[in-house]
Amino acid sequence: MENKKGLLIILSGPSGVGKGTVRKIVMRDKSLNLVYSISMTTRLPREKEVEGKDYFFVSKEVFDENIKNNNLLEYAEFVGNKYGTPRDYVERLRNEGKNVILEIEVNGAQQVLSKTDKDDRISIFLVPPSIEELESRIRHRRSEEEDIIQQRLNKAKREMSLTDQYDYVVLNDKVGRAAGEIKSIIRKNLKK
Ligand code: 5GP
Repeated sequence: MENKKGLLIILSGPSGVGKGTVRKIVMRDKSLNLVYSISMTTRLPREKEVEGKDYFFVSKEVFDENIKNNNLLEYAEFVGNKYGTPRDYVERLRNEGKNVILEIEVNGAQQVLSKTDKDDRISIFLVPPSIEELESRIRHRRSEEEDIIQQRLNKAKREMSLTDQYDYVVLNDKVGRAAGEIKSIIRKNLKK
């Protein structure tokens, strides 16, 4: 029997909202058959980040070569670095019947929304309880300079107005609750 093609799940929202944490909890549910799309980035690895697990860390030249060869499903510049989704990897996994999660910022999410069929994907926007809460999360988890923190925050404020383009908006008030809501959303869409 032929495998049904996997669902594309776009998880977006401002930097610092907790996409990664929520996504990791969602992925523990093996019944959802999820895999994570590992992105390519020109950002330097943070402490504890692992090549090929968290990101594929590449030089600007390699990244640009991938853009030129049309290897990226989407890409965006974020606070001075580039981030992109390798196209073949996502396609291969979906063809194997896996449901692929893209955890990406809003410009990239918009590109994927415009390039893919509505029946083929779902989009989820994760929002923080408040901007103050987001600021505190960004400040606590990062070892970044003040100007970078400010840039991330300003970007986040602009991004918060884009929620109406998404199928679902999920409030990250508590990670366990938000993850539970996302699991239900995915489950509901897998049954369709
Ligand atoms: P960070 O530097 O915090 O790892 O990532 C910065 C932002 O880029 C986050 O919002 C993250 O979700 C997003 N991001 C990670 N990978 C990709 C990608 O492949 N494409 C796009 N457009 N954004 C990404």
